[in-house]
Amino acid sequence: MTQHSVDVALGARSYSIRIGPGLLRDAEALAAAAPGRHVLLVTDANVARHHLAPVQAAFGERRLETCVLPPGEQEKTLARFGELIGRLADMGASRDATVVALGGGVVGDLAGFAAATWMRGIRFVQVPTTLLAMVDSSVGGKTAVDLPQGKNLVGAFHQPAAVFADTDVLATLPARELAAGLAEVLKYGAIGDAGFFAWLERHMEALLAREPTAVAEAIARSCAHKAGVVVRDETEQGERALLNFGHTFGHAIETEQGYGGLLHGEAVAVGMLLAAELSARLGLAPAADRTRLEALVAGFGLPVRIPPGLDPDALLRHMRLDKKNRSGALRLVLWRGLGRAEVVEGVEDAAVRAVLAA
Ligand code: NAD
Ligand code: ZN
Repeated sequence: MTQHSVDVALGARSYSIRIGPGLLRDAEALAAAAPGRHVLLVTDANVARHHLAPVQAAFGERRLETCVLPPGEQEKTLARFGELIGRLADMGASRDATVVALGGGVVGDLAGFAAATWMRGIRFVQVPTTLLAMVDSSVGGKTAVDLPQGKNLVGAFHQPAAVFADTDVLATLPARELAAGLAEVLKYGAIGDAGFFAWLERHMEALLAREPTAVAEAIARSCAHKAGVVVRDETEQGERALLNFGHTFGHAIETEQGYGGLLHGEAVAVGMLLAAELSARLGLAPAADRTRLEALVAGFGLPVRIPPGLDPDALLRHMRLDKKNRSGALRLVLWRGLGRAEVVEGVEDAAVRAVLAA
C-alpha cells in the first residue's frame, strides 16, 4: 500500500506530513515524535471510542496524560484551553513536553493553541482523524479557539513537529464529514491546479467509496498544495489568503445559521459556487468552468445552494465583518476559472447581494 510523505520546508521548523495506512500502529514512529519526558494526548470522545488505544499504547511506557473532550465546535473555547493548560501544569510538564492532537480540526486547533502558549511554546504533534484535518487544519500551524463574539478570534501560529495522517481512521468517519473534507480537497484544484481538478472528476466514485489509494493520493496532493503556500507565505501576508476561496461566503452562512446548520466544508462548497458565480458575472471566469465546479460539488454530495430562509442582507452584513476586510471595503477571493484565483479589493455590495439573492 502506498505511503506518501510531504515536507513543509520551513528551515529549522521543517516537518513531514506522513500519509498512508497503518500509521497509528507504528508505535516506534509515534513515540519518536515525542522524545521528551511528558506527553499530553488530546482527543474527543468520538475519536477515542475508535482510535485511542493504539496511540496510547505507543506512548505507554512514558508519562502520558490523556484528555478526552466532548466532541464539537462548541468545545473550542477558552475554558477548554484553560483545562488543557491546567493539565500540563498538574503533570509538571516542562519545555521538553509534547502535546499530541488525535482528532479533527477542533481538537487540533485547541491542543495546538495549548502547545503554542504553554511555556511560550512546546512541541506539538498532529494526528488528524478527519479528512478536513488531514488536508487542511493539521498543516500550516494555525491554532485557535473561538469566542462567543466569533470564530478563531484568539490564536497563534505554531507549526507542528510532525503530522501523521493515517488513512485507515477514515473508515469510521461519517459520510457527511468525508464529503465536507472533499470540499477543501476540490478547493485546491479549483484555485491552483486544473490538472488535480480533472483528476478529482475522474476519481469521484473511488473517493466516495474510500478507495485507499485514491484517498491517499488526494490527501497527498492537497497537502503538497497547502505546504507550498505555507512555505511561501506562512503568516498570510499574501498568497495564503487564496486558500480562503469560498470562505467569506461560507463563514457568513455558518454564522447566520449559528454553527448548527451546514458543516464548515459544506458551507465552503456553497461559498465556492457563489464566488464562482460572482466571478462569472463580473466577467472574470468562464461560465463553463463554474458549471464543472458545480458538477463536482454536487457529485461529492455537497450542497450547491444557500439553505432556504437565510436573509441575503444578513449574509452580506456578516461578510462585511470578515477578518480579511480592510477599511470597510469587501475583499474577496474571486476566480479566474479552473486553477486560478485572486484577491479582489473593493467588490461592489450590489454585485455580491445579487448573487446572494439569486
Ligand atoms: P471536528 O474536529 O469537529 O470533527 C468532526 C466530527 O467528526 C466530530 O464529531 C469528531 O468527533 C468526529 N470524528 C473525527 N474523526 C473521526 C473518525 N476518524 N471517526 C469518527 N468520527 C470522527 O471537525 P473538522 O471538520 O475536522 O474540523 C473543523 C475545525 O477545524 C473548525 O474548528 C475549523 O475552524 C478548524 N480549521 C482549522 C484550520 C487551521 O488551519 N488551523 C483549517 C481549517 C479548519
Ligand atoms: Zn476551510
